[in-house]
Amino acid sequence: FENEQTAFTHRREGTLDEFHDRYESAVERVRDDLGESHPLVIDGAAVERDERFSVESPGETDLLVGEFASGDEGDVDRAVAAATDAFDEWRHTHWRDRAAIFREAAERARDRRYELAAVLTLEAGKNRFEAVADVDEGIDFLRFYARELERNEGYRLDTGEPTPGQRCRNVLEPYGVFGVVGPFNFPFAIFVGMTTGALITGNTVVAKPASATPLIAHEAVSILSDAGVPDGALNLVTGGGRTVGEPLVGHEDVSGVAFTGSRAVGREIERSFVEREKPGPVIAELGGKNPVTVTAEADLEKAVEGVRYGAFGFGGQKCSATSRVYVHEDVADAFTERLVETTEEIPDRAPDDPGAVVAPLVDDDAVERYREVCETAREVGRVLTGGEVVGAVDGAAGRYVRPTVAVDVPHDHDVAREEHFVPFVTIHPVGGLDEGIRKSNDSEYGLCAGLFSEDDAEIETWLDRIESGMCYVNRSQSATTGALVQAQPFGGWKASGTTSKFAGGYWYLPQFMREQTRTVVG
Ligand code: GLU
Repeated sequence: FENEQTAFTHRREGTLDEFHDRYESAVERVRDDLGESHPLVIDGAAVERDERFSVESPGETDLLVGEFASGDEGDVDRAVAAATDAFDEWRHTHWRDRAAIFREAAERARDRRYELAAVLTLEAGKNRFEAVADVDEGIDFLRFYARELERNEGYRLDTGEPTPGQRCRNVLEPYGVFGVVGPFNFPFAIFVGMTTGALITGNTVVAKPASATPLIAHEAVSILSDAGVPDGALNLVTGGGRTVGEPLVGHEDVSGVAFTGSRAVGREIERSFVEREKPGPVIAELGGKNPVTVTAEADLEKAVEGVRYGAFGFGGQKCSATSRVYVHEDVADAFTERLVETTEEIPDRAPDDPGAVVAPLVDDDAVERYREVCETAREVGRVLTGGEVVGAVDGAAGRYVRPTVAVDVPHDHDVAREEHFVPFVTIHPVGGLDEGIRKSNDSEYGLCAGLFSEDDAEIETWLDRIESGMCYVNRSQSATTGALVQAQPFGGWKASGTTSKFAGGYWYLPQFMREQTRTVVG
């Protein structure tokens, strides 16, 4: 695979020391530029607003990342109007030329890789490895979708001459304006991936980034514009869910929505789309409550390592995070003891520290949610390690919390069923693989699932019966997180998504288009 993420994993570029140097000097440069005020981008123009919201760094809440214009319904109207006007020309831009723009954007992002990663550290709290992975994944989406558009020759097929003189063609055509609503947790990769999906297929876009991560969205939009996406084809309206998100996804002139976020919001958007006059696609990646089964045949060290990283990487703030573990009762004590031991070894570190593992939480609501889930876990079960809000690290106040392992929580309790988006995992002993699979599947979600077993028959049985979009066996670097573009198309079953087509996969782009069959006689 030619993707950036694997290239980085295998360190084809430079030494690790060079990587650290480049990243650290980028953090210094970006830090010096923080604190500015940022406008909306409508029809290629900067639009200032008196009303603004500020974003602080999660790992250093005294550090102002920036101030951002708070858009409102009128701004959404103007942005949708600009996107509507830009549609005709953009959709008639040859698919080869559109693909070339996104390839160019990939190169531009690649050139600014460390700077973008530094923004992700300072704005979202990602450690250096996860920050670079986020950037690389965005680059991979840009390249892969460009390649897919080219490989499918713009999704235009001659379907033959069924009777003499009747010439038929089957084509995929864009819908019009897409609303793109991005998440805070992969604010470059997923934002760029969804935006590219909509744009490269000929739609125009009004994008609303997560309120916690508007700065990286500005970077993404300027990379795309500089690469050649025309004014009006891509508009950026920052602001709140109620003031921007709702009017955007409810707008009559918005033909489709790409959304990554919570299940509740995703369902609301989907419902509102079904009820409208002109229904359109709602392409949503939603939550997960990702189970891992550890059998008596597992390599326990691998399982411990995989769960530790899957549950606590980026502070559990991934919809792919490992959050419940079903472990064979014969090995449950050994597994749990070792997991607790290695979890306790995780240091509290600022996100730009080379030793950072767990990230500070994104906002105060997340810290509150963390407190509540730990408290309830103590009431209905036991917390073996964690459950504490750390507050400050290296003298800087931040939203740091300890990674948490809980046991004895009933499998059907909300603590073990709901997605919490914090570094929290519950361990449940089970009688065997069957019970592990049954309990794994006993969830409304079906995003990611993991298995640790060295037994081929167990692996086959699990793969055959697990209800999950992403299925990972014996993945010690992370039990359930970290999908790679193209090799591991990412998406969910059941309540984890509204479509069955996965991001970074071969069927993703066609969702942004509608089919048309053209017959010309003579
Ligand atoms: N694609 C990401 C991963 O595999 C997760 C995406 C998300 O959490 O929204 O880790």
